[in-house]
Amino acid sequence: MRKKIVAGNWKMNLDYQDGVSLFSEVVNMAKDEIVGDQQVVVCSPFIHLHSIAQLAKTASHVAVGAQNIHQAESGAYTGEISASQVKSVGADYVILGHSERRAYFGETNALLSEKVDAALKHGLLPIFCIGETKEERESGKFFDIIKTQLTEGVFHLSKEEFAKVVLAYEPVWAIGTGLTASPEQAQEVHAFIRATVAAHYDQSVADETSILYGGSCNPKNAGELFAQADIDGGLIGGASLKSRDFLDIVKVFN
Ligand code: PGA
Repeated sequence: MRKKIVAGNWKMNLDYQDGVSLFSEVVNMAKDEIVGDQQVVVCSPFIHLHSIAQLAKTASHVAVGAQNIHQAESGAYTGEISASQVKSVGADYVILGHSERRAYFGETNALLSEKVDAALKHGLLPIFCIGETKEERESGKFFDIIKTQLTEGVFHLSKEEFAKVVLAYEPVWAIGTGLTASPEQAQEVHAFIRATVAAHYDQSVADETSILYGGSCNPKNAGELFAQADIDGGLIGGASLKSRDFLDIVKVFN
């Protein structure tokens, strides 16, 4: 059975102490409140990673991740952080291909495929984001866009490598806007993603792939979204900044 995962994406929020405090709350609540076997992941800014990875060791359900890495091994890339550096502080996951990275930092599918390789090489599990913009949805071409993101971003991987990838469908028009995809809209795309994975690899690989939904997910709508057959959890932005809201989303899988 594929893993149920709820991943928080703090984005560029929370100074050091505030992040450590929030994470401590999440860990304590998770210990008391999680009764299922869902995996919780918190993807923080780099500055928090070492401290929160230490705290995560005390909670079996909780892991930490970064929000980006550089594709190179090491060297003269001022201001960048490598996969092995992220791994060395105790992180297990990394978000790659978030629409904000694609839109504001020019990250292309080709670049992202290199970042995916760097992550896997150093034992980080990629949470690979795909999704269409408002214009792409309205033009009706969104299935093509999503297929291309998969083909160019992750389908170069072997079956064994791909098994380590978590996918996240995040319609760009739903991120931070309060506009959630309806459960039916989200399920339609998740089923398409799973079918596309099955066509490229095989059905058993597709059945084992966790596909998360992201975009204005909150404690009110998470239940209905996560009840869909092909939605295996969520990538949570705004609501991951409040421990109560985040845990209430996590508890959908209790
Ligand atoms: P949101 O962000 O939950 O604030 O819409 C989701 C994301 O960007 O990962």
